[in-house]
Amino acid sequence: MNEINNEIEKNQINNNNINYVDYGKINNNPKQETYQQPTQDTAEQEQVSNTQDNMENKEYKQMKLGRIKDGTVIDHIPPELCFRLINVLGLEKYGSVLSAATNLTSAKLDKKGMIKISGKFLTEDEVKRVAVVAPNVTMCTVNDYKVLNKAQLTLPKEIKTIVLCNNPNCMTNVEEVSTNFNVINNSPLKIRCNYCERTIEKEDIKLK
Ligand SMILES: [Zn+2]
Repeated sequence: MNEINNEIEKNQINNNNINYVDYGKINNNPKQETYQQPTQDTAEQEQVSNTQDNMENKEYKQMKLGRIKDGTVIDHIPPELCFRLINVLGLEKYGSVLSAATNLTSAKLDKKGMIKISGKFLTEDEVKRVAVVAPNVTMCTVNDYKVLNKAQLTLPKEIKTIVLCNNPNCMTNVEEVSTNFNVINNSPLKIRCNYCERTIEKEDIKLK
């Protein structure tokens, strides 16, 4: 158990504010079989079973990201998009506690990532950014350790402002005009510029 804790500590130190725990790596460690939650944690877990822990899958209980008092939790992130989300939300230099985990086992997805942002509630634009990058994640806000609201994100039919048109001659790149795209396909995501009608596929979408 000490080895596992050391591993986590190392990761936390190496990544400064971002408490990145590679669960895939820990799961490959044969010593994990001997790992058990300390009794104190179990008691704490039961005490708060109606709050954040409840929204997390049971299989996640053996190793958890720390609970946050106030802030935002983004769950069910496809693992490959976990760090992209941190990037599009501009959280690389976030000044408060941010925990991220990837390759967690999940009942819903094969593997998933999760991000907990302490002390931050996402703006409407930020929620849209998340929806464009990872449309099917679950997001909730936490207040005083309790889950206030939980929602599965869905893509809006129109995406305004946050996406750049990749046609250099498009009016939105030449004049001061906000972009506006129609979503023409949800999965895989495909959008069409309302001004120049260029279609952009998911992998080519650039966020402002
Ligand atoms: Zn355009």
